[in-house]
Amino acid sequence: MSTAIDIPSLLRGHGFRLTPQRLTVAELVLSKPAHVTARKVYQTLKEDHPALSLNTVYLTLGQFEKSGLLNRFEINGNAVFDSNTMPHNHACCSCCGVIIDLPVHQMEQQAPSLLNQWQIQTEHRIWVGLCPNCMDEDRAGKMNKSGVGSI
Ligand SMILES: [Zn+2]
Ligand SMILES: [Zn+2]
Repeated sequence: MSTAIDIPSLLRGHGFRLTPQRLTVAELVLSKPAHVTARKVYQTLKEDHPALSLNTVYLTLGQFEKSGLLNRFEINGNAVFDSNTMPHNHACCSCCGVIIDLPVHQMEQQAPSLLNQWQIQTEHRIWVGLCPNCMDEDRAGKMNKSGVGSI
């Protein structure tokens, strides 16, 4: 079962011209669930697409965000772009940087009473902790491992 997304149609439908860079970035971030930073997209693509610059990647992701194809949120000062544009919360591992989606429950959407005078547009929580993989590595006593992931 595959629900392949027709990236060119999707981009055209949002009024984008189909430039090679746009298609390349879109294939990576829109064809499957993804939480990515501009730097990560750039590093993933630069081998095969030497003409692509970090700046172009950043601008392209920003355009996708403005047109509603991506959500954007911040973790540790990094802008993270999310292909899941439905309201949801996140958990982020402080060790390896993995980010997972959490469903939003109806209960949680109750705003605190201090915000009674506000018109709330969105709410986003980020739970931070150690993921099971990193907990296992801790237990195994490999505290001095190198190559700690960053997002
Ligand atoms: Zn982890
Ligand atoms: Zn997400």
